[in-house]
Amino acid sequence: ARAAGIGNWAVFHPEIGKVADYRQWIEAELHPAFERGDFDLYYQPQIDLMKGRTVGYEALIRWKHPERGMIPPMEFIPIAEETGMIGPIGAWVLRKACADARHLPDDCFVAVNISAVQFVTRDFVGMVGDIVRETGIDPRRLELELTETAMMQDRGRAEAILKQLTAMGISVAVDDFGTGYSNLSYLVDFSIHKLKIDRSFVSRIDTDQNSGAVVSTIVGLSRALGVHAIAEGVETENQATLLRAAGCDVFQGFLFGHPAPLKIAGGQLHPTAAA
Ligand code: C2E
Ligand code: CA
Ligand code: CA
Ligand code: CA
Repeated sequence: ARAAGIGNWAVFHPEIGKVADYRQWIEAELHPAFERGDFDLYYQPQIDLMKGRTVGYEALIRWKHPERGMIPPMEFIPIAEETGMIGPIGAWVLRKACADARHLPDDCFVAVNISAVQFVTRDFVGMVGDIVRETGIDPRRLELELTETAMMQDRGRAEAILKQLTAMGISVAVDDFGTGYSNLSYLVDFSIHKLKIDRSFVSRIDTDQNSGAVVSTIVGLSRALGVHAIAEGVETENQATLLRAAGCDVFQGFLFGHPAPLKIAGGQLHPTAAA
């Protein structure tokens, strides 16, 4: 993922040896950007084919720099994590997503990405609780997306945090599932509600038989555990067909909807929803 970010940047700044400059520029710009209000959240729908409707929306941060334009999250989130700016940015994302939920259809949840760094900050649960109360979101409409890496930093602590979040009514999805830990024993102990099948399996499903096997195995595992499974990054009809054959029936991806500003995301797919 880092490599992809640097690759994008190479187009942006072709001179070799300027990677460090760009890094420093982002580092210096993050705080003023936050103060200026450069950041926004886009929403991408998650579609449940059995229910025949959109069931939730993933909030994805966007940084629109006044001079440089859009800067992809993969280029600034890692730097925000290293510099500590992820604290205020992550809290802003959570608060905004919870507040925006009132403009999304009532029968939809909002999914928020939580950085590994944010997850281990002191009193993470307290912060989440405060934001839930301040915004008035029904906690059952809030889902937090965590990677295995985030949860494995301190397993005992993670287990306790997930239990507290679950007790509050908040659900937890494992993001990029299948790319992190090969040891799945945490799935037995942790309060987890959903596995998000990583895009790398989805994008290869039409060319690589093994990807189909991995997807069916994850879907089978999710059923055995009594949790949901969703495929991310679904781009083509053919991928959707093969995913269905592998037992998956909840999808997120460009085929069903691109990430879009709140008004568009909330309005386009649910014409009756409040704007
Ligand atoms: P992610 O959590 O795995 O999010 C999915 C990424 O895939 C998003 O990229 C989304 O725009 C993109 N995507 C969705 N459907 C498709 C598709 O059909 N094809 C392709 N090729 N891509 C698709 P985005 O928005 O650039 O975000 C990249 C990553 O940055 C996210 O990966 C997540 O790890 C991180 N991120 C984004 N927003 C936030 C945030 O608010 N907080 C934190 N901590 N991380 C965030
Ligand atoms: Ca995610
Ligand atoms: Ca992913
Ligand atoms: Ca991710």
